[in-house]
Amino acid sequence: MTEDARPRTSRISGFHKLSAQQRIDRAAAFAGLDEAQRAQLAAPSNIDAHLADHMIENMVTTIAIPVGIATNMRVDGRDVLVPMATEESSVIAAVGNSARQCYDSGGFTTSMSGTQMIAQIQLLDVADPHRGRLVILEQRAEIERICNACDATLVKFGGGFRELEVRVLDTPGGAMVITHIIVDTRDAMGANAVNTMAERLAPELARWTGGRALLRILSNLADRRVVRARATWPCAVIGGEAVRDAMIAAYHFADHDPYRAATHNKGIMNGVSAVVLATGNDTRAVEAGAHAYAARTGRYRSLSAWEVTAQGDLTGTIELPMAVGLVGGAVKIHPTARALVAILQVKTAEELARIIAAVGLAQNFGAMKALATEGIQRGHMSLHAQNVAFAAGAVGEEVGEIARRLIDRQSINEEAAGLALAELRGGR
Ligand code: NAD
Repeated sequence: MTEDARPRTSRISGFHKLSAQQRIDRAAAFAGLDEAQRAQLAAPSNIDAHLADHMIENMVTTIAIPVGIATNMRVDGRDVLVPMATEESSVIAAVGNSARQCYDSGGFTTSMSGTQMIAQIQLLDVADPHRGRLVILEQRAEIERICNACDATLVKFGGGFRELEVRVLDTPGGAMVITHIIVDTRDAMGANAVNTMAERLAPELARWTGGRALLRILSNLADRRVVRARATWPCAVIGGEAVRDAMIAAYHFADHDPYRAATHNKGIMNGVSAVVLATGNDTRAVEAGAHAYAARTGRYRSLSAWEVTAQGDLTGTIELPMAVGLVGGAVKIHPTARALVAILQVKTAEELARIIAAVGLAQNFGAMKALATEGIQRGHMSLHAQNVAFAAGAVGEEVGEIARRLIDRQSINEEAAGLALAELRGGR
């Protein structure tokens, strides 16, 4: 099809009714994709196309992300192999390396504050918001009844309504009455569960207070579901006092400067999000919670803290919200996620959350140690060079050879890779 003859509108009515192949054809015609690109989009993956089509709207294809296993992890006295889904090189190696260096001193110790989620209901136009607040608090028993009636299964598994909080929020748009229902969602991440309750409750709150209900949704600042991990790295194992002190200085930098803290916490999330994704959980929910929690004092800070023990060793702690589940969402229906959860051998969402916190701390140790010593690039170099070789068209054994040449020449870019490939193929 010539450029001009292509259908150029994004107004496609009934796109959702088409099959995945038909959607690929429409998108391909729109963008002028060639046959190879069409075939790539239609290629099968380890998730059944029929299932994928039911998970999201307008599904055309799936995108595979490599999953690796982090080794050497010992969490609460148990050895675990941790699946991590990531497109970024060095992330999994860093976790395995960091965990090896604290394995003999006991690995990671974790705990969790609970598995409670918060849903918010916003009321506007309450004439007397402070009176309205008390009226809602007086209805605690009825609110508990309504919430629990929404989800008998959750109650059967030991979850359900736990607490009620009501605040009056003064905003430029006037006073708002904000109700929090706090619900133990046990092994579910719980968004759907608490959203259902909030929607069911909202008209009652409006009726009791004479106000108007607007938003009814969970908060991703899941600070009733905070997971913690700690570990100690012997000073001698990590390379001595100079390395230890450089890492402490790196931490202080992060904790006092949001520009550094953003990257420090991004490193933590390299580990956290990779396990969250591998287990079919909601990466955005966990990330939103983590960053909001990092800013809970009014200043964006490090999610971890690093200190020197009385014995002179390096000890690290981490604390962040971890709304992950083992039932519901994609966790239960994505067959690959289920198989990866099976590798972890966890029985509860709390066990999963605790392992994820340990991975976040291990990742943070690895990134800080690299940054405070040789810099991040040396560790990244080998895999990065291989990726560049791939991008330049190297195949099979050429990839390793091109990567070696690029590293030797200290010139890792696609142009250099193209030249090296031409040399190699030309027999030089
Ligand atoms: P869900 O509703 O599919 O499953 C949870 C339900 O499973 C519970 O309500 C309960 O009835 C049942 N259940 C069975 N065994 C259980 C057990 N042992 N413990 C607890 N419950 C058990 O899923 P969900 O966890 O309520 O919601 C998660 C989904 O919501 C995710 O896919 C997420 O992406 C999505 N979501 C997120 C947001 C957000 O984060 N802002 C908003 C909307 C939706």
